[in-house]
Amino acid sequence: MTDAAVHPPFPEAARAALADSQLRHNLAHATQTIRAKRAEAVGEVPDWEQLREAGRALKERVLRHLDDYLLELEGAVQQAGGVVHWARDAEEANRIVGDLVLAHGADEVVKSKSLTTEETKLNEALGERGIRAWETDLAQLIIQLAGDAPSHILVPAIHKNRAEIRELFLRTLDDVPDDLSDDPRALAEAARRHLRKRFLSATVGISGANFAIAETGTVSVVESEGNGRMCTTLPEVLITMVGIEKIIPTWQDLEVFLQLLPRSSTAERMNPYTTLWTGVTPGDGPQKFHLVLVDNGRTNALADTIGRQALNCIRCSACLNVCPVYERTGGHAYGSTYPGPIGAILTPMLDGVEAAGSLPYASSLCGACYEVCPVKINIPEVLVHLRQEVVEHTAREGGIRKRFSGERAAMEALARVFADRRAYEAAQRLGRRGQWPLARHGTIERLPGPLAGWSAMRDLRPVPAQSFREWWRTRS
Ligand code: SF4
Repeated sequence: MTDAAVHPPFPEAARAALADSQLRHNLAHATQTIRAKRAEAVGEVPDWEQLREAGRALKERVLRHLDDYLLELEGAVQQAGGVVHWARDAEEANRIVGDLVLAHGADEVVKSKSLTTEETKLNEALGERGIRAWETDLAQLIIQLAGDAPSHILVPAIHKNRAEIRELFLRTLDDVPDDLSDDPRALAEAARRHLRKRFLSATVGISGANFAIAETGTVSVVESEGNGRMCTTLPEVLITMVGIEKIIPTWQDLEVFLQLLPRSSTAERMNPYTTLWTGVTPGDGPQKFHLVLVDNGRTNALADTIGRQALNCIRCSACLNVCPVYERTGGHAYGSTYPGPIGAILTPMLDGVEAAGSLPYASSLCGACYEVCPVKINIPEVLVHLRQEVVEHTAREGGIRKRFSGERAAMEALARVFADRRAYEAAQRLGRRGQWPLARHGTIERLPGPLAGWSAMRDLRPVPAQSFREWWRTRS
């Protein structure tokens, strides 16, 4: 899921992103706007906290009994006329989908936005077998035409502004007028005309799913543009690829998630399009339905009792929009299908800490992500847990490396100082004397020697001229 082999580590990629002022402007504008709207939409619901708790509890129950729910889902889908396929990993999932498309004699498919297919790199795999996959979500189409990668879960083209999109459409679409403006309505109309032809000619549609209901075998896609509904209703054959954690137990449980998701993601009271289907219905919609259930690291993640909560994610993207790190770097710096705070935990959980490199460190641990998460995933807790895993993995691989042995020694020394009042006060006095060449305008920006790495990303306050205890002594 990560492109560790080709993607630079997060600190390096983040540095490059920070140097791009246009990117920072686009990101700041977009995230601040979505953030404010979300806060307003959530503020309208008096029992929001109870809803969050219900969402968390339901997801936890699914993870505890995932094996049972999966079998229940399989049975219900089969009973409704669908076919269920099981895929251990991305390669197997892509192979199944490719086989199905070719078996139906198609060399083109229309796709609705799906993070799971991004995760498995389905488009590339289909391309290798001569199948052209057309993305139909507007932002996803922009990304596809630009040969780019998504940088946000919900708004994949958040890093592009409308002038850039106009230029892209003029360059890549044949049927746009030369005087195309950068008015959002004109851009959407140009995309609509382009996509309409694809919808009407495709015989196979591919979708992801937001929820799969074990009780009834019903699958659901929520979206804003209607392209998802076209993909799931117009073609003769529908193939849905879904991660095994997307199950919810019963139809009634949907009421919780259909309140939590739209307000947290697009700040809407309800998604404009909520499409639900159960198997096939003669004479109505696709007459063949295939559900591909993808593991791809999820059962390994289940074994981690702290980290498994990452699987509760309903992909609303609220955590991205409040994250100070994401707001400044954007999604590409993470080098993963899932960017932002959820990416920093989900990617290592699915791929293993050895593959995810520095992602657990791509956070200030401010906790804003935890506060907004509609299913109460404690992202800071998982980040700290994963950092420990990274250290332990490094130790196992090559003995404790210099960096970690130095860090450990520093932490042990700090623990001793903090545990002893006299030592602590002596350290304060020492710091006060030693800091004068480093403090500038009330801030220490760079520490010397081996501590320089620590201060590369942080500013410190100098030790004050008088501590509280010293001041107190002067009063007594
Ligand atoms: S971790 Fe929570 S806030 Fe972030 S995308 Fe997932 S559900 Fe939304």
